[in-house]
Formats: sequence, C-alpha cells, structure tokens
Amino acid sequence: MVRNQIEGRGVSDAAVLDAMRKVPRHLFVPESLRSVAYDDSPVPIGSGQTISQPYIVAYMTEAVRPSAGQKVLEVGTGSGYQAAVLAGIVERVYTIEIIRELGQSAAQRLENLGYPNVEVKVGDGYFGWEEAGPFDAIVVTAAAEYIPPPLVDQLKDGGRMIIPVGSPFMVQMLMLVEKRGDEVTTKSLLPVRFVPFRRNP
Ligand code: SAH
Repeated sequence: MVRNQIEGRGVSDAAVLDAMRKVPRHLFVPESLRSVAYDDSPVPIGSGQTISQPYIVAYMTEAVRPSAGQKVLEVGTGSGYQAAVLAGIVERVYTIEIIRELGQSAAQRLENLGYPNVEVKVGDGYFGWEEAGPFDAIVVTAAAEYIPPPLVDQLKDGGRMIIPVGSPFMVQMLMLVEKRGDEVTTKSLLPVRFVPFRRNP
C-alpha cells in the first residue's frame, strides 16, 4: 500500500511513510470489509461515513508537516485511523467527532490498540477544542462550506491547517491554511470528495 499508492504518488516525508506503514488499517474498518482495508479507495465505517483513501490520509498528513513534540487537532475522528497516523508522529492528538457512536467506538479502538497520546471528544468540531489549543496543526476530514474561523484562531503562529472546502456531494478543494502572525494565507492543493461537515449529529 505505502510503496505503490503513497510513495509512488509523491509523498516522501519519512515520518509520514513510517506512520502509514505501522498503523494496522484493517483494524479501523468493519470486520466484513477487512479484505479491502488496504485497497486504493475509501472504506465505509458505518453511520454513513467513510475512512479516507490511504493516499489522501498520507497527503493531508504530509501537508501539515507534522513533527515530534507537536500538538495536533483533528476534526472528524470517524474510525480513528487518521488520528492514529498522526499519533505515531506528534506528541499529542486531540480529535473531535460529532456522531457519538463513532466517537465512542474510535476512542475504545485507539485505547485497545495502544495510542495513549490521542484524546477523543464528541462534539461539533466547528468550535475546535479551545482548552487544548493552540495547535501546531489542524487536520479537518469532512468537507466544510467555508473555513471555520474558530479553527483559524486556534492555530499557533506558524501553524498549518488542511481542510476540504466546498459543497457537499460535489468535488471539493483541499486547502492549506497557514498562519504567520496576523496573516493567514490559503492555497488550493487538490480536488477531493469528502463526506459533509455537519453542524448537527
Ligand atoms: N478521519 C476519519 C474519517 C472521517 S469521515 C478516519 O480516519 O476514519 C468524516 C468524519 O467527520 C465523520 O465521522 C463525520 O461524522 C465527522 N464530522 C462531520 N462533521 C463534523 C463536525 N462538525 N465535527 C466533528 N466531526 C464531524
């Protein structure tokens, strides 16, 4: 999976590749879908949600340039897979899921698999996680109509956020947001399709 789908498409950050090799993706998908866990595609995880294609997880992780010692926020825990990938690189991961059932099972799964540096919260990630911030990086894994201002506020100076922006059920754009002092810049990176960023469970 890593060699063909990820390195082969240009992801080169050693820490990201290493983390992608270590996380057992088959344990983050429903048992009946284990045989397709390492395929080059998203996988349904219940409640109408999906775990992103491996390449997209790696691409988004590399885009925020994670490194040891950092504190990262993820919005859209889903299965907990993206959080586990980040947890293998940075010091602490905070992740928010709006669907209680998914948040609770992801928290359980991450605990069972031994990721003590991930904290899961059930709630609306639009507001971020103020008490835990500011963050070196923020990874949003659901498509928002616009970039939630509270998330920009919770980025550290020099911090980066990756977020799919655009209308639900259409092609969205993966955007990289960078904060330097009072200046916030955005860059369009890649057309993608994500499940919608919701405001109600
Ligand atoms: N990162 C996940 C995949 C997430 S799919 C993984 O690795 O498995 C997107 C997730 O975002 C879904 O579980 C959805 O319920 C959640 N979500 C959507 N809107 C949200 C919001 N406002 N706050 C928190 N989570 C949200």
